[in-house]
Amino acid sequence: MKKIILITLYCFAMQLVAQSKKNPAEGIFMDKVERTDKEWQACLTPAEYQILREKGTERAFTGKYYNHKEVGTYVCAGCDNELFSSNTKYDSGSGWPAFYDALDKSKVNTKMDYSFGMKRIEVTCAKCDSHLGHVFEDGPRPTGLRYCINSLALDFVAKDKK
Ligand SMILES: [Zn+2]
Repeated sequence: MKKIILITLYCFAMQLVAQSKKNPAEGIFMDKVERTDKEWQACLTPAEYQILREKGTERAFTGKYYNHKEVGTYVCAGCDNELFSSNTKYDSGSGWPAFYDALDKSKVNTKMDYSFGMKRIEVTCAKCDSHLGHVFEDGPRPTGLRYCINSLALDFVAKDKK
């Protein structure tokens, strides 16, 4: 009996740890968007679903934003979370939209990705946990970072339409 209580307490404590980790370090509370796979399938196109929810990658030079130069904000195609500004977008020559910084560190999460025999850092939306792309350390100043993001993971909001 004692053991069960201990296990229950342990699970409860772990849940608290998990919850506190979800919140950005800055202490800004972000409403999480959580949907089932079925709900995601209903609100995304099959191509978007494959990128955002199954961690796919669109073919280089096929996306609508790799060569897009308008002024505005790039938001998550899954939940409209504002992710990147056109101010930090640059042409990396890779065929995917590239940014040297996120709009705010709390907008995206990163984690190690060892899939396909590579060591990469995956970038996900902090609000809906959708896969966006990867971040590499070969970007321009001042950050030296290259957020290599799938066009299909993004929607664009032009500045004057905001
Ligand atoms: Zn999102």
